[in-house]
Amino acid sequence: MTASTSTTRDYVPSGPFAGRFGPAIALKSRETGRLTELGPFSIDPETFGPLEVAYDFGPVTRKDIEAGPASLWRYAPLLPVPRTAEERPADLSPGWTRLLKSENLARRLNLKNLWIKDDRDNPTHSFKDRVVATALAAAKTLGYTTLSCASTGNLANAVAAASARAGIDSVVFIPENLEQGKILTSAAYGTKLIAIKGNYDDVNRLCSEIADDRDDYGFVNVNLRAYYAEGSKTLGYEIAEQLGWRLPDQVVIPVASGSLLTKVDKAFQELIALGLVEAKPYRIFGAQATGCSPVAEAFDAGWDVAKPVRPDTIAKSLAIGNPADAPFVLDIVRRTGGAVAAVSDAEIVAGIRLLAETEGVFAETAGGVTVANLVKLLDDGRLDPDAETVVINTGDGLKTLDAIADHVGPAATIDPDLRIFRQTIAAL
Ligand SMILES: *Cc1c(COP(=O)(O)O)cnc(C)c1O
Repeated sequence: MTASTSTTRDYVPSGPFAGRFGPAIALKSRETGRLTELGPFSIDPETFGPLEVAYDFGPVTRKDIEAGPASLWRYAPLLPVPRTAEERPADLSPGWTRLLKSENLARRLNLKNLWIKDDRDNPTHSFKDRVVATALAAAKTLGYTTLSCASTGNLANAVAAASARAGIDSVVFIPENLEQGKILTSAAYGTKLIAIKGNYDDVNRLCSEIADDRDDYGFVNVNLRAYYAEGSKTLGYEIAEQLGWRLPDQVVIPVASGSLLTKVDKAFQELIALGLVEAKPYRIFGAQATGCSPVAEAFDAGWDVAKPVRPDTIAKSLAIGNPADAPFVLDIVRRTGGAVAAVSDAEIVAGIRLLAETEGVFAETAGGVTVANLVKLLDDGRLDPDAETVVINTGDGLKTLDAIADHVGPAATIDPDLRIFRQTIAAL
């Protein structure tokens, strides 16, 4: 890597991958802002902190975007990917999921204006299809022949499916204690699924070692992490475009590694800088489970970094005890006037049921975490009930049926007899 200036305006792209990542011109140290050439790097060798993608966008209009496909590729001019579909791997067209106006849940919570961004609509039913889309495109450009990941479940689904579609080999790593609904839905795509005897943080450590050991493996969230993370920006872009090119006042976002939350903020900032939305204050809130809440604890304690924890929660997709982006999440929620909060497993189940019963949206445990935190942040007076609010549902309840198996079921089991039905329904 060659050093250069830290402003994108003066930066002259260099290296073998210059010009191959669409509008992206460099990788940038998140800590020092120093710019370096694009390539298979995710760690700044000076600070050992993360690198992120830096751009020179040129003019982009609402019309350009609106003329694009009904998928996240409508934002290709804002992503580190080649501009045309022909230059990218075949994919399953993730993104452009529904933004649902909430009436019933809003009324229940006395919220004036509530929206649910429902990312169950993605090809493998979670927001992870977005990050895999940008990581896979980068893997192709950088010449990796096997797509890989360390996963809490949804990422394994997304990598396995996207690899099948793109015709590239995949090897995905999960903690052995994952939900059946995530193990089987990954294995079905014919990936090499490796279950590790340990938790996610153990899996992640092993994957870092493997990434150093094998130069053919592109780990979407290890050596491709800078490109992977940019896929999450599309959730922020979509929220703004679907609101009619407008930013909401408040957003509630689940936090595992913290990447998604930081990229929704990055998306909002970019839209303002490009003049695609009007600048306005907005507040970003992070949602965790008390069984794995290192970022919420750091927020409450006033720390700039999170203290690693050993996860123990039903929200397995959020069970990252040592979240890489914690300092950036803390910075964003403090800068915007938000907060990071946490809820118990019982509250998560109640959150899943509340969303399902009021809006017909059956979320996985991460969605339960988000809705339960919405309730809690309102109760605590941290969220403004009169402000326009968006909650992000990142995953599908069909993958985490165990979480509610002891809580819901048939109201009655009866003989096929009309008289008995009449008696039964009268009593329900
Ligand atoms: C991975 C995941 C998240 C959080 O992602 P980070 O970017 O690591 O914070 C949230 N919800 C679901 C369902 C996920 O799978």
